[in-house]
Amino acid sequence: METLKEIKSKEFTSTRNACKVCTPLGASVVYKGIEGCVPLIHGSQGCATYIRRYLISHYKEPVDIASTNFTEETAIFGGEKNLFIAIKNVTKQYNPKIIGIATTCLSEVIGDDMRKIIHRYKTENEGDTNLPELVFVNTPSFMGTHINGFHDTILSLVKAFATHKKTTQSVNIFPGFLSPADLQLLKEIFADVAINPIMVPDYSDILDNEYTGEYEKLPKGGTTIKELQETGSAKASIEFGYILNKSNAKSQTAAEFLEADFGVPRINFNIPIGINATDAFFSELEKLTNTKTPEKYTKQRGKLVDAYVDGHKYVFGKKAVVYGEEDFVIAMISFLEEIGIETVLCASGGDSGLLKNVIQEKIKPRKTINIHDNFDFEEIATVCKELKPDILIGNSKGYYIARELGIPLARVGFPIHDRLGGSRIKHIGYEGTQQLFDTIANTLIQQMQENSPVGYKYM
Ligand code: SF4
Repeated sequence: METLKEIKSKEFTSTRNACKVCTPLGASVVYKGIEGCVPLIHGSQGCATYIRRYLISHYKEPVDIASTNFTEETAIFGGEKNLFIAIKNVTKQYNPKIIGIATTCLSEVIGDDMRKIIHRYKTENEGDTNLPELVFVNTPSFMGTHINGFHDTILSLVKAFATHKKTTQSVNIFPGFLSPADLQLLKEIFADVAINPIMVPDYSDILDNEYTGEYEKLPKGGTTIKELQETGSAKASIEFGYILNKSNAKSQTAAEFLEADFGVPRINFNIPIGINATDAFFSELEKLTNTKTPEKYTKQRGKLVDAYVDGHKYVFGKKAVVYGEEDFVIAMISFLEEIGIETVLCASGGDSGLLKNVIQEKIKPRKTINIHDNFDFEEIATVCKELKPDILIGNSKGYYIARELGIPLARVGFPIHDRLGGSRIKHIGYEGTQQLFDTIANTLIQQMQENSPVGYKYM
């Protein structure tokens, strides 16, 4: 068995069971959050099938994703012909408002010039009243993760549509890769503080849809084109997360673009998980609205503090391994610090190179944490054997480690493939933190109960 020291000293090791997902998957999730948008994956059929299956398994919703179906011939001569056919087919079958195109490893290796190809398509089809908006993003999966794909796609959309007219009272919100339930919570909060939010993306309904008995090719909901245009005239942009798509110095986020090109002030902070981070969020909302936080939320906060007190003895001093997307693990550590759980390993498949510094600077953990980016699940398993945590906190991909080592797993984030309700997990705000706290405390309590030599049903 490799030790932590050996893993650290390796210059190169191939990825085994990646702790990240493919880049165009992140793009697809964003496109699903735009009204009337069909994602189109420019590559081989397997890429689109994998993404479709992966998303359906988590969200338990139909997720239509089209493909340009590369063959051997396309790999040699380029994907233009296939893209033209695909755009025509998708337009005919879905009549979408937007086709959101994302490249893949293969189309990037071939070097398809997407801007030129799409321009050619538009020129050839000028005057066609059925022509949808065509947006594209470069998402080579050999660089970055689904999170890069996610944020780069938001940037592409905003760049494609944002315009500035008269500054409005709307506030842009770029929440990052949260659950549909989190997005719903955010909309509720904005309604309660009387802010009109422009949320990009908004898949709160599309990826957590109601049953109607009818199959809808394009489910209702999502950020509208008009809203995307209005991002350039908003009063401010709120952006959750510190690392976002910053895997290289040149990356820009949508909020940074809007600030630089349209003068929309950018407010950036941690994903609001835990009391401290949620307090910071509400404090920003107070500044934006010039009014106090509604009583509903101060009550929720009070109840959460009460729950922390009640559950303190079950969670304090426990050791946790946290894994997942970089910004997500940063927010989780901030929350675990305030409830007294010690994070012994923080791992991510993201490789921005920023994770350690951001945790040290923004979270300032009380004890030293083993922080690893560009980590895979084999490496997480190795380190878990050494550090013997009391709990794993992350997505369902950590299940084999939990099973092998007999460590309980609190399922949060994405993907949740072995339970129902992945889209309904709330993580943010006082309400989401309450749900997370109960999940983590009860996971620890259940493990203690199951390992007890005596059966008991009263604590
Ligand atoms: S080939 Fe690349 S883009 Fe396609 S599924 Fe695999 S990692 Fe994703």
